[in-house]
Amino acid sequence: MRIEDIRWEQTLDRVRVAATVRWEDCDRATQDVYVEAPIQFAPGVAASSDAFLVAGLLPAMRHGERRLAVSGEICPRLLIGLKDAMQLLSVWYGYSNPVTIESKNRVGSALAATPSKRAAFFFTGGVDSLTTLRVNRRQFADGDPEYFRDGLLICGLEVEQLDAFQYVVDGLTDLANESGVTLIPIYTNLRSLDDDWVFWADQFESSVLAAVAHTLHGRLFSASIASSYDYGCLHPHGSHPLLDSNYSSASLQIRHDGAGLSRLDKTRILAEWERGVKSLRVCNRSDTYRPGLLNCGRCEKCLRTLTALMVLDKLDSAESFANREVTADVVQKSLEITPMNYPYWAELVGPLEAKGFSQLSQVIRTAIRYFETNGGWKEAVVRFDRQYLNGLLLRVRNSFSRTTASWSSAVLAELCLKDHVAMASSWLPSI
Ligand SMILES: [Zn+2]
Repeated sequence: MRIEDIRWEQTLDRVRVAATVRWEDCDRATQDVYVEAPIQFAPGVAASSDAFLVAGLLPAMRHGERRLAVSGEICPRLLIGLKDAMQLLSVWYGYSNPVTIESKNRVGSALAATPSKRAAFFFTGGVDSLTTLRVNRRQFADGDPEYFRDGLLICGLEVEQLDAFQYVVDGLTDLANESGVTLIPIYTNLRSLDDDWVFWADQFESSVLAAVAHTLHGRLFSASIASSYDYGCLHPHGSHPLLDSNYSSASLQIRHDGAGLSRLDKTRILAEWERGVKSLRVCNRSDTYRPGLLNCGRCEKCLRTLTALMVLDKLDSAESFANREVTADVVQKSLEITPMNYPYWAELVGPLEAKGFSQLSQVIRTAIRYFETNGGWKEAVVRFDRQYLNGLLLRVRNSFSRTTASWSSAVLAELCLKDHVAMASSWLPSI
């Protein structure tokens, strides 16, 4: 992969940094990728080689690129971190060859950490993100360098439609203003480097967030990513305490925040902040967004958030949900326990029973038991693969998904899973 022509451009109302990405060892078309911010933020936006290197590295590794040659100068601290990140991802996912980074070292990077720079966080409106803001406000006084002054809200990730994104911006603007946060809407197509959502969740997520932050390194000294899982539930994931900080440079720290708290712990903190609960945006069904209503109230993610709020007697405050009905029947229709949501639902069962919601807790218990009986073996296969096959099954899966967007059990059978193809065909796409 070559990342070239890294440039800073100005349009009528936005500033854009862009780069041209040329693939060398796989059959993928040359791409222009960009990050844009409103024009008033132009002084802090830089044509950062660090940013595009961070964004391109994991897709390059996944698609078998032997090198990543990036134009411009790269922070040597970042290079050390990226090598660690590649090593970690190789352990997790069975990559056999790291990408060789070809770049020129920048000299004097640490000098860029000036007192005028700001602490930022990724301001999605979700439980994790708002808890990160809430805890920051409890810990630091205005004027402290650690006091979040910027909130980064990104269009082009889970929300791509401009009208839906504008509803999110509008929905979070008052909260930002009341919290002393400058909300910075960011527009990017970096995810187009590999738009597979499984790859996103497993590996890509925090590198894209970090890349966006690096384009603002003229303004920021830190950017905090709210944790998705607490320490008790950690597993290989695209945002992880062992991974995220590797995307830091000498002048910009990328932080993984809040892994000491479970999702229910965070919701409990948020429940004490009425304004935060009213502004929640947890739903990924952006096609259902309407002004002031940023959550469908019917999807699995909405329902588990509403269930937690019900346990905490805050359901009435959840004004940004189009539906707030949480009953055993409603939950049963949408609930499927997966490895990703298992810890979130499991921690709700006890509190629901303690509050007398026995019918609902029984529905969740049944779903968890079904997962543990019928889905638990998938996890056992993954563990077996990691421990005894050195990630062979995952490498098969990765090499296969590099060559085609979809897969067939017939091809898998040709690879190496002859004895287990029926079993593998049901778990490979979901890991
Ligand atoms: Zn929803």
